[in-house]
Amino acid sequence: MVGIAAAIALQKRGHRVLIIDPGKSLERASYGNAGVISPASILPMASPGIWSKLFEYATNRNDGLRLRYRDSLYLLGWARRFLAASNESAKAKTAAQLQPLVSQAIGAHRALAQTLGTQSYLKDSGWLRLYPNESSYQASLPERQLFDRHKIRYQLVDAPGIQALEPHLSKRFSRGIFFPDALSIEQPGELIQRAWELFLQLGGQHAAGRVTDIQQHDNKVLVATQDKQQFTASHVVLSAGVHSAAIAKRMGYRIPMVAERGYHIHCNFQSGVTLNRPVNDVGGAYVMAPNNNGIRLLTGVELAKPNSPPNLHQIQQVLQTAANTLPIKPPTIRSSQQIWMGSRPSTPDGLPIIGRASRHSRVIFAFGHGHIGLSTGPVTGELVADLINQQTPLFSLNAFRADRFQH
Ligand SMILES: Cc1cc2nc3c(=O)[nH]c(=O)nc-3n(C[C@H](O)[C@H](O)[C@H](O)COP(=O)(O)OP(=O)(O)OC[C@H]3O[C@@H](n4cnc5c(N)ncnc54)[C@H](O)[C@@H]3O)c2cc1C
Repeated sequence: MVGIAAAIALQKRGHRVLIIDPGKSLERASYGNAGVISPASILPMASPGIWSKLFEYATNRNDGLRLRYRDSLYLLGWARRFLAASNESAKAKTAAQLQPLVSQAIGAHRALAQTLGTQSYLKDSGWLRLYPNESSYQASLPERQLFDRHKIRYQLVDAPGIQALEPHLSKRFSRGIFFPDALSIEQPGELIQRAWELFLQLGGQHAAGRVTDIQQHDNKVLVATQDKQQFTASHVVLSAGVHSAAIAKRMGYRIPMVAERGYHIHCNFQSGVTLNRPVNDVGGAYVMAPNNNGIRLLTGVELAKPNSPPNLHQIQQVLQTAANTLPIKPPTIRSSQQIWMGSRPSTPDGLPIIGRASRHSRVIFAFGHGHIGLSTGPVTGELVADLINQQTPLFSLNAFRADRFQH
């Protein structure tokens, strides 16, 4: 989402653009996500609530967040910074820093949809969070206070209110929060596909390859790929999702970014059942989103290397819980081929990296969007185009600098 949005924003401002990308659509986080675009997406994962659950997380007893122990070394530096950011004041600061970006997400998506002719993909559905009990609802108070502070609209809903919004949901939920302004996209992969088609129609070029290195010599930037292709450009945007950190490292930038992996599976409804919008069962740590006359069921986080083998535990648990939440026909999972797995490109503080590389004035970083890259990709695309055109971006990008990790 981020790279293709930047490419189209640059084309619209008159630039000739080449995308170097392996072109494997299923490998993209942008393909398999929940499709939620919400003004409330200002809360980072790092949160004071982590501490009371730390033992559960560390011993893989909570499906909201699991660890692949074999990848501990990869995760260590990130985890140290993540825990340091897990306090109320850091969370409030991050929310305030994300707000200018997130608040532009809906407008930028609508504008992109107009360019692509995909307005019908954007559903004015709102987005619903459900709490299993009073105490977990009460624990969300600090988050609601942040929503109030940033004037983000939400409605508290009780059991009848939940049933009115979603008549087929289990009656076990007594509390919920409804975000009426959120949009959703059922098939984010199709949006990306349409964007690629437009990019090519506008004269964009695609070279299939995996970038390994980017170097700047005077006014030229050189890009090298794994299969020894070489490209030269006046400017380069590095936007390779979770793989961006390895490329940045070759350029001399150490950026603590890891994969917060997530899984999804599609299920059919039992006859007559519907779901009107994406729903997050906070207690079960999963999201179900309407998809192709059924649902896409998505897991919480698994911290692991992007290419480590999948672990089906989370999706199997989620499938069981979801079958008690909504009348679906859960498929039997026999192999990992039935499951999609992707990587949220995540920084420890929950802020993306958007800006000019400090020692490569012609390279723009645009990655690390974690849980909100589908929503904020189109805004980021415009910001990237501003930077390349030497225009002042709509708001300060200081919080998104790559060198904030140099301590
Ligand atoms: C389960 C799940 C649910 C989510 N739900 C939501 C949601 O509801 N709303 C939301 O806003 N976000 C959501 N997200 C997060 C969102 O999907 C990501 O933040 C976003 O897709 C990241 O976009 P990206 O363009 O940075 O990365 P990607 O979509 O991963 O794209 C990276 C691109 O870089 C290319 N690439 C990789 N390596 C190289 C290389 N070496 N050289 C060249 N190209 C390379 C890839 O082929 C790909 O095209 C979710 C994520 C997951 C996993």
